[in-house]
Amino acid sequence: MSADLRELYQSVILDHNKAPRNFCKPKCANRSAEGINPLCGDQLTVYLTVEDGIVKDVGFSGTGCAISTASASLMTQSIKGKKIEDVEHLFAGFHEMLTSDKLSKTRDEDLGKLSVFSGVREFPMRVKCATLAWHAMTEALHNTGQSATTE
Ligand code: ZN
Repeated sequence: MSADLRELYQSVILDHNKAPRNFCKPKCANRSAEGINPLCGDQLTVYLTVEDGIVKDVGFSGTGCAISTASASLMTQSIKGKKIEDVEHLFAGFHEMLTSDKLSKTRDEDLGKLSVFSGVREFPMRVKCATLAWHAMTEALHNTGQSATTE
């Protein structure tokens, strides 16, 4: 990671960890799912208000390390107001950035602020922290009332 990116990464993580955005349950949330990362002790719940195939509102609660909290916070900002398929596309790009060395250029451009997490790729244990909220969000997207199970 370049020095510039490392600095940006640290300031973004610190900022979002200290003051997480959308750290609340939206009033009209109609879907939710919990995400647990036992390796680190992160435990988050993601709430979504989905209407007409669009994520109208999103929030989260729970406790976790700085990376999982900052990632959840940035995620809420990135997906609010987006269509479900665009949200899934974004997660695919985010996941690819964290797990693959060869990120396609278009994806890199799509990710915007999320690309500060690219440095996490150097720490495989931390990838789970960074993707936890996204996994919970994806589960919530497909969870239409029944409680989520890990089976
Ligand atoms: Zn963690």
